[in-house]
Amino acid sequence: MERLTRSLRWNCCVIDYSLSNQMECDNCGKDSAALEQVPASNFKRNRGGAAAGSIGVCDLCYGQFRLREEAVARVVDSGSPKKLIVAGPGTGKTHTFRKLVESLREGSKVVIFTLINNLVDDLRELENVPEREVSVFTFHGFCKNLLYQEVGAAEFSYSGSLPKLIEQDAELLDLDFEIDPERAFSELREGEESVIFYMKRAEYYRAVGYVDRVFTFFRERPQTIPQYALVIADEYQDFNRLEAC
Ligand SMILES: [Zn+2]
Repeated sequence: MERLTRSLRWNCCVIDYSLSNQMECDNCGKDSAALEQVPASNFKRNRGGAAAGSIGVCDLCYGQFRLREEAVARVVDSGSPKKLIVAGPGTGKTHTFRKLVESLREGSKVVIFTLINNLVDDLRELENVPEREVSVFTFHGFCKNLLYQEVGAAEFSYSGSLPKLIEQDAELLDLDFEIDPERAFSELREGEESVIFYMKRAEYYRAVGYVDRVFTFFRERPQTIPQYALVIADEYQDFNRLEAC
Protein backbone atom coordinates (compact mmCIF):
# COMPACT_ATOMS: atom_id res chain seq x y z
CA MET A 1 0.00 0.00 0.00
CA GLU A 2 2.79 2.34 0.92
CA ARG A 3 4.55 1.51 -2.36
CA LEU A 4 1.35 2.21 -4.29
CA THR A 5 0.86 5.59 -2.57
CA ARG A 6 4.48 6.49 -3.28
CA SER A 7 4.06 5.47 -6.89
CA LEU A 8 0.87 7.53 -7.26
CA ARG A 9 2.53 10.55 -5.68
CA TRP A 10 5.44 10.14 -8.07
CA ASN A 11 3.09 9.78 -11.03
CA CYS A 12 1.11 12.86 -10.00
CA CYS A 13 4.32 14.69 -9.56
CA VAL A 14 5.38 13.82 -13.15
CA ILE A 15 2.02 14.87 -14.55
CA ASP A 16 2.08 18.20 -12.68
CA TYR A 17 5.60 18.83 -13.82
CA SER A 18 4.80 18.25 -17.50
CA LEU A 19 1.63 20.38 -17.37
CA SER A 20 3.50 23.30 -15.91
CA ASN A 21 5.63 23.46 -19.08
CA GLN A 22 2.66 23.62 -21.41
CA MET A 23 1.72 26.87 -23.12
CA GLU A 24 -1.39 27.62 -25.07
CA CYS A 25 -1.11 28.28 -28.81
CA ASP A 26 -2.31 31.85 -29.52
CA ASN A 27 -3.94 30.64 -32.71
CA CYS A 28 -5.66 27.29 -32.08
CA GLY A 29 -5.46 27.05 -28.26
CA LYS A 30 -3.72 23.68 -28.28
CA ASP A 31 -1.24 23.06 -25.44
CA SER A 32 2.32 23.00 -26.67
CA ALA A 33 5.74 22.58 -25.01
CA ALA A 34 7.16 25.40 -27.16
CA LEU A 35 5.69 28.24 -29.18
CA GLU A 36 7.10 29.82 -32.33
CA GLN A 37 6.67 33.58 -32.77
CA VAL A 38 5.00 34.54 -36.08
CA PRO A 39 3.36 37.74 -37.42
CA ALA A 40 -0.25 37.92 -36.16
CA SER A 41 -1.35 39.17 -39.60
CA ASN A 42 -0.72 35.66 -40.93
CA PHE A 43 -3.36 34.21 -38.59
CA LYS A 44 -6.40 36.40 -39.13
CA ARG A 45 -8.65 34.24 -36.96
CA ASN A 46 -6.25 33.86 -34.03
CA ARG A 47 -7.96 33.38 -30.67
CA GLY A 48 -6.85 36.68 -29.18
CA GLY A 49 -7.96 38.62 -32.26
CA ALA A 50 -4.47 40.18 -32.57
CA ALA A 51 -4.14 42.02 -35.90
CA ALA A 52 -0.58 43.35 -35.53
CA GLY A 53 2.62 42.33 -33.76
CA SER A 54 3.48 38.69 -33.21
CA ILE A 55 1.77 35.70 -31.61
CA GLY A 56 3.12 32.38 -30.30
CA VAL A 57 1.88 29.31 -32.18
CA CYS A 58 2.15 25.54 -31.66
CA ASP A 59 4.17 23.24 -33.90
CA LEU A 60 1.09 22.28 -35.95
CA CYS A 61 0.12 25.90 -36.69
CA TYR A 62 3.77 26.78 -37.35
CA GLY A 63 4.07 23.87 -39.78
CA GLN A 64 1.01 25.12 -41.71
CA PHE A 65 2.39 28.66 -41.66
CA ARG A 66 5.70 27.47 -43.16
CA LEU A 67 3.97 25.39 -45.82
CA ARG A 68 1.86 28.35 -46.87
CA GLU A 69 4.85 30.70 -46.92
CA GLU A 70 6.67 28.26 -49.22
CA ALA A 71 3.62 27.96 -51.49
CA VAL A 72 3.21 31.77 -51.65
CA ALA A 73 6.93 32.18 -52.44
CA ARG A 74 6.58 29.71 -55.33
CA VAL A 75 3.63 31.72 -56.71
CA VAL A 76 5.40 35.10 -56.32
CA ASP A 77 8.74 33.85 -57.73
CA SER A 78 7.18 32.02 -60.68
CA GLY A 79 8.22 33.54 -64.00
CA SER A 80 5.03 32.34 -65.68
CA PRO A 81 2.89 35.21 -67.04
CA LYS A 82 -0.28 33.32 -66.06
CA LYS A 83 -0.62 31.82 -62.62
CA LEU A 84 -3.45 29.60 -61.41
CA ILE A 85 -3.90 29.48 -57.63
CA VAL A 86 -6.07 26.66 -56.29
CA ALA A 87 -7.03 27.35 -52.66
CA GLY A 88 -9.98 26.50 -50.45
CA PRO A 89 -11.93 29.01 -48.33
CA GLY A 90 -9.99 30.54 -45.45
CA THR A 91 -6.58 29.42 -46.70
CA GLY A 92 -5.27 32.94 -47.26
CA LYS A 93 -5.90 33.85 -50.90
CA THR A 94 -6.03 37.55 -50.03
CA HIS A 95 -2.64 37.18 -48.29
CA THR A 96 -1.22 35.61 -51.49
CA PHE A 97 -2.72 38.38 -53.64
CA ARG A 98 -1.14 40.97 -51.33
CA LYS A 99 2.29 39.37 -51.66
CA LEU A 100 1.90 39.37 -55.45
CA VAL A 101 0.92 43.05 -55.49
CA GLU A 102 3.80 43.96 -53.12
CA SER A 103 6.26 42.16 -55.40
CA LEU A 104 5.50 44.63 -58.22
CA ARG A 105 7.42 47.81 -58.90
CA GLU A 106 6.17 50.97 -57.15
CA GLY A 107 3.50 52.79 -59.14
CA SER A 108 2.28 49.56 -60.82
CA LYS A 109 -1.37 49.39 -61.84
CA VAL A 110 -3.32 46.34 -60.72
CA VAL A 111 -6.93 45.34 -61.32
CA ILE A 112 -8.71 42.70 -59.27
CA PHE A 113 -12.16 41.41 -60.10
CA THR A 114 -14.51 38.80 -58.80
CA LEU A 115 -18.00 37.70 -59.78
CA ILE A 116 -19.54 38.14 -56.35
CA ASN A 117 -20.42 41.49 -54.73
CA ASN A 118 -19.63 40.36 -51.17
CA LEU A 119 -16.10 39.34 -52.12
CA VAL A 120 -15.36 42.84 -53.39
CA ASP A 121 -15.50 44.09 -49.80
CA ASP A 122 -13.06 41.37 -48.66
CA LEU A 123 -10.61 42.21 -51.42
CA ARG A 124 -10.89 45.98 -51.02
CA GLU A 125 -8.16 45.96 -48.31
CA LEU A 126 -5.70 45.38 -51.18
CA GLU A 127 -6.41 48.91 -52.42
CA ASN A 128 -4.37 50.03 -49.39
CA VAL A 129 -1.10 48.41 -50.47
CA PRO A 130 1.26 51.40 -50.42
CA GLU A 131 2.72 52.79 -53.66
CA ARG A 132 0.63 50.49 -55.89
CA GLU A 133 -2.47 51.56 -57.80
CA VAL A 134 -4.96 48.77 -57.07
CA SER A 135 -8.65 48.77 -58.13
CA VAL A 136 -11.16 46.13 -57.06
CA PHE A 137 -14.40 45.53 -59.00
CA THR A 138 -17.03 42.94 -59.64
CA PHE A 139 -16.33 41.72 -63.16
CA HIS A 140 -19.58 43.15 -64.44
CA GLY A 141 -18.87 46.49 -62.73
CA PHE A 142 -15.44 46.52 -64.39
CA CYS A 143 -17.02 45.96 -67.82
CA LYS A 144 -19.63 48.62 -67.16
CA ASN A 145 -16.87 51.09 -66.30
CA LEU A 146 -14.97 50.28 -69.48
CA LEU A 147 -18.16 50.54 -71.46
CA TYR A 148 -18.74 54.15 -70.54
CA GLN A 149 -15.13 55.30 -70.18
CA GLU A 150 -13.53 53.58 -73.15
CA VAL A 151 -16.22 52.29 -75.47
CA GLY A 152 -18.35 55.43 -75.20
CA ALA A 153 -21.64 53.54 -75.34
CA ALA A 154 -23.73 56.62 -74.61
CA GLU A 155 -26.12 55.73 -77.42
CA PHE A 156 -26.74 52.33 -75.86
CA SER A 157 -28.65 51.70 -72.65
CA TYR A 158 -26.95 49.34 -70.27
CA SER A 159 -29.04 46.40 -69.17
CA GLY A 160 -27.92 43.37 -67.24
CA SER A 161 -31.22 41.67 -68.07
CA LEU A 162 -30.78 42.02 -71.86
CA PRO A 163 -29.89 38.32 -72.34
CA LYS A 164 -33.10 37.28 -70.53
CA LEU A 165 -35.18 39.65 -72.65
CA ILE A 166 -33.68 38.30 -75.87
CA GLU A 167 -34.28 34.76 -74.72
CA GLN A 168 -37.97 35.60 -74.16
CA ASP A 169 -38.16 37.15 -77.66
CA ALA A 170 -36.92 33.87 -79.11
CA GLU A 171 -39.63 32.00 -77.18
CA LEU A 172 -42.35 34.41 -78.36
CA LEU A 173 -41.22 34.02 -81.97
CA ASP A 174 -41.24 30.28 -81.43
CA LEU A 175 -37.62 29.99 -82.47
CA ASP A 176 -36.23 26.67 -81.47
CA PHE A 177 -32.47 27.09 -81.21
CA GLU A 178 -30.28 24.16 -80.33
CA ILE A 179 -28.64 26.29 -77.64
CA ASP A 180 -30.39 29.27 -76.09
CA PRO A 181 -29.04 32.70 -77.17
CA GLU A 182 -27.62 33.64 -73.75
CA ARG A 183 -25.69 30.40 -73.36
CA ALA A 184 -24.49 30.33 -76.95
CA PHE A 185 -23.28 33.92 -76.59
CA SER A 186 -21.52 33.22 -73.30
CA GLU A 187 -19.73 30.31 -74.99
CA LEU A 188 -18.75 32.57 -77.92
CA ARG A 189 -20.37 30.34 -80.53
CA GLU A 190 -20.46 33.25 -82.94
CA GLY A 191 -21.55 31.31 -86.02
CA GLU A 192 -24.62 29.95 -84.19
CA GLU A 193 -27.99 31.10 -85.40
CA SER A 194 -28.96 32.01 -81.85
CA VAL A 195 -25.95 34.35 -81.47
CA ILE A 196 -26.74 36.12 -84.74
CA PHE A 197 -30.31 36.53 -83.45
CA TYR A 198 -28.92 37.83 -80.12
CA MET A 199 -26.81 40.52 -81.79
CA LYS A 200 -29.68 41.65 -84.02
CA ARG A 201 -32.03 41.98 -81.05
CA ALA A 202 -29.40 43.90 -79.03
CA GLU A 203 -29.08 46.35 -81.94
CA TYR A 204 -32.88 46.65 -82.12
CA TYR A 205 -33.14 47.52 -78.42
CA ARG A 206 -30.06 49.80 -78.63
CA ALA A 207 -29.03 48.05 -75.44
CA VAL A 208 -25.94 46.27 -74.25
CA GLY A 209 -25.41 43.42 -71.79
CA TYR A 210 -22.65 43.12 -69.22
CA VAL A 211 -19.76 41.99 -71.34
CA ASP A 212 -20.89 41.60 -74.95
CA ARG A 213 -20.28 45.14 -76.20
CA VAL A 214 -17.01 45.51 -74.28
CA PHE A 215 -15.74 42.23 -75.70
CA THR A 216 -16.58 43.00 -79.33
CA PHE A 217 -15.26 46.59 -79.03
CA PHE A 218 -11.84 45.54 -77.71
CA ARG A 219 -11.54 42.58 -80.04
CA GLU A 220 -11.70 45.00 -82.95
CA ARG A 221 -9.30 47.46 -81.29
CA PRO A 222 -6.73 45.40 -79.34
CA GLN A 223 -4.34 48.37 -79.14
CA THR A 224 -6.82 50.21 -76.89
CA ILE A 225 -7.12 47.43 -74.26
CA PRO A 226 -6.18 48.95 -70.87
CA GLN A 227 -2.81 47.73 -69.60
CA TYR A 228 -2.09 46.52 -66.06
CA ALA A 229 1.02 45.11 -64.44
CA LEU A 230 -1.18 42.47 -62.84
CA VAL A 231 -4.74 41.26 -63.40
CA ILE A 232 -6.24 39.05 -60.69
CA ALA A 233 -9.48 37.17 -61.41
CA ASP A 234 -10.92 35.77 -58.19
CA GLU A 235 -13.15 32.66 -58.48
CA TYR A 236 -11.92 32.19 -62.04
CA GLN A 237 -13.54 28.74 -62.28
CA ASP A 238 -16.96 30.45 -62.41
CA PHE A 239 -16.14 32.64 -65.44
CA ASN A 240 -17.81 31.57 -68.68
CA ARG A 241 -15.91 31.51 -71.99
CA LEU A 242 -16.95 35.02 -73.00
CA GLU A 243 -15.90 36.47 -69.61
CA ALA A 244 -12.60 34.58 -69.65
CA CYS A 245 -11.72 35.99 -73.09
ZN1 LIG B 1 -1.90 25.97 -32.82
